[in-house]
Amino acid sequence: MAYAQNFIAVLFISFTFVSTSFSQSILGISPQLLDLFAINRVFRHRKIPNDNSLYCDSWRFTVETNNAGLWSIIPERCISFVQDYTTGDRYSSDSAAVADLSLAFANTVKVSNDGMDAWVFDIDETLLSNLPYYVEHGFGSQIFDEIAFDKWVNEANAPAIPASLKLYKELQQRGFTIFLLTGRSEYQRNNTEKNMVHAGYSNWERLILRGPSDKGKLATQYKSEKRKELEDEGYRIRGNSGDQWSDLTGFAVAQRSFKLPNPMYYIA
Ligand SMILES: [Mg+2]
Repeated sequence: MAYAQNFIAVLFISFTFVSTSFSQSILGISPQLLDLFAINRVFRHRKIPNDNSLYCDSWRFTVETNNAGLWSIIPERCISFVQDYTTGDRYSSDSAAVADLSLAFANTVKVSNDGMDAWVFDIDETLLSNLPYYVEHGFGSQIFDEIAFDKWVNEANAPAIPASLKLYKELQQRGFTIFLLTGRSEYQRNNTEKNMVHAGYSNWERLILRGPSDKGKLATQYKSEKRKELEDEGYRIRGNSGDQWSDLTGFAVAQRSFKLPNPMYYIA
């Protein structure tokens, strides 16, 4: 009986070997390709760990690249992740990397002495950080509270993003004319100026805020129109820095646009 079992086993192995060799030769499959199939079999069964950290890191990638498009609040499971990101070294490091590349580009621009080489900066989460506000408001996990945020703006106490402040000063030294283009409203002008000075910024050419005729416009439209007005005045918009895609896209876009990180909110 044992002999019969062994015989059947040997027969089965031989048949498998022959049929595998046969099918390989018919299909022209190389040993290298077979290795790849083997690797794929292993990976197909390997589960991607579904922990929050990995999930939220991928989520952050989708929002920063704008693959996510319009989104309202951060996923509940990513609150700790966004807290760690924004309050830890990573946010500072990412912001510094953007500033470094912005300056590297600025260094390639032949700045004319006519004062018409312009750099446009957004304000919130670009030059100023509202992190102290978001620490108290769930890091973007809560629906935007306009009244509470206006109160925070009126305090004029937002700190500078250090890498952006450094970039701002470097650009001024190189002769760029600085424009501040913000989604904040005209009635917030005084407190915005006060906050900017308090945070260390000075000598901008113009602070552009939403006026009555800009009410209700999407940020992309409003900011594009304002950039177009600058172009019509003869300014050459060399660079544009913003934490939202709506700061950077549309029309009259800058020669180079630089997207700062912001995983806390999205403005269309
Ligand atoms: Mg902003």
